[in-house]
Amino acid sequence: MSARAAKSAGGHTCGRPVARGAGELGWIDAVSSCVTCHAMPTPDPSLFDAVVNLSKRRGFVFPSAEIYGGIRSTYDWGPLGALLLRNVREAWWRSMIQERDDVVQIDAAILTNPRVWEASGHLATFTDPLVDCRNCKERWRADEIGDTCPNCGSHDLTEARPFNLMFKTYVGPIEDGSSVAYLRPETAQGMFVNFLNVLQTTRKRPPFGIAQIGRSFRNEITPGNFVFRTREFEQMEMEYFVPPDESPRWFEYWCGQRLGWYERYGIPGDMLRLRKHEVEELSHYSSGTADVEFRFPWGWGELEGIANRTDFDLSAHSKVSGTKLEYFDQATGEHYTPHAIEPAAGLTRTAMAFLLAAYDEDVVAGEPRTVLRLHKRIAPYQVAVLPLSKKETLVPLAKDVLHGLQRRFVCEYDETQAIGRRYRRQDEIGTPFCVTIDFQSLDDHAVTVRDRDSTEQVRLPIDEVTRYLSEQFDS
Ligand code: ATP
Repeated sequence: MSARAAKSAGGHTCGRPVARGAGELGWIDAVSSCVTCHAMPTPDPSLFDAVVNLSKRRGFVFPSAEIYGGIRSTYDWGPLGALLLRNVREAWWRSMIQERDDVVQIDAAILTNPRVWEASGHLATFTDPLVDCRNCKERWRADEIGDTCPNCGSHDLTEARPFNLMFKTYVGPIEDGSSVAYLRPETAQGMFVNFLNVLQTTRKRPPFGIAQIGRSFRNEITPGNFVFRTREFEQMEMEYFVPPDESPRWFEYWCGQRLGWYERYGIPGDMLRLRKHEVEELSHYSSGTADVEFRFPWGWGELEGIANRTDFDLSAHSKVSGTKLEYFDQATGEHYTPHAIEPAAGLTRTAMAFLLAAYDEDVVAGEPRTVLRLHKRIAPYQVAVLPLSKKETLVPLAKDVLHGLQRRFVCEYDETQAIGRRYRRQDEIGTPFCVTIDFQSLDDHAVTVRDRDSTEQVRLPIDEVTRYLSEQFDS
């Protein structure tokens, strides 16, 4: 049975990410039992370990500043990880912007006027309840641990107090109250404060969306589970502005669209679910929220929240700024404040889900192999160009083939080691196609194209390889 077939749901179903454990993997915060529902977390801890280790070994994710001992739960994305993030970003961009005519993109500043956070409610309410263990001095989120310290088992905990998750900094040389600014904890407010600018410059009218991809920062009390919860992360968010009476319909529409996106890019349906929030769970701005959840090795965890934010944000910014953020409907002669439906996804967290869903082990020609069955458009490299030998006779032709393919595809070139080992290396990082140049290629001007999943090979004239591969990517 392949590792993929062996992945199962397990008993941890409360949806909370599992708190960090003893760090058995050395460089990451390891998975421990869930501190909320106390279920043992993982049916397949080996999958988590395998993906974390592969990430480090092959250059997807490194602990940040490792030569200085790292900094807790902070990671740097390596050469393959940076390509993976780029591809996930592009896949989101393609379906949210390129393939639509009603969504535009912006790129707003991370540091902005602090009144934005006053109006949005983040200054007052973007908090988690913090408790200290008086015995071991660890700090926890009260809503995650009940009355017992997960570290030492003590019940001697302080009263919970609200802890604001926004990172505070000072703009300019003087550190006083008037220079305080915050690193944005979400990209969404950039869309609301630019609502009028976008409306006026693009001539869009509701229903229409403003989208943004970018870094966000939250001073999480308990980051952990590898890149699942970090203090610096990247989000892909969209505010879709609609006439108020249409908002329930658009909320349902975006729930369906977003769930479908993960499947389109290769996450199996049985590893995904849509979970609607109970009324008591809703954020202060929301009249309805559903999470797209992924079956992580420790249980279900959120990849994306889809919220009906009503007119909360536009109305709040209108009030605090004194600028009316409204739409004038010429057809009816009415001014109204649109409602916003927000699909808000985590890029870094989703990239991890793609890796977990893609990881597989099978046997090829009697030999075990590790293979990342990433969707062709998500895989870091699309094509690997491999001359059978690094002899001077073959390399010029191989480089010609490489340069031809590089115009269209992100390629890796590798000429060292036996060809079988090079195929394994490419399988392990998910490269969907290998193009091999052998000595016969010098005579027949043909190459072999190998498919990652089936390992089948076809021989094609060099002139036809780009067209053949393009068809595979477009299919
Ligand atoms: P959680 O319940 O996991 O804290 P959230 O509901 O606060 O998440 P949102 O504010 O809805 O998250 O943010 C949208 C998305 O951003 C999340 O679904 C997640 O994918 C991502 N995200 C949020 N916080 C983090 C984090 N600390 N690290 C990595 N990704 C995050």
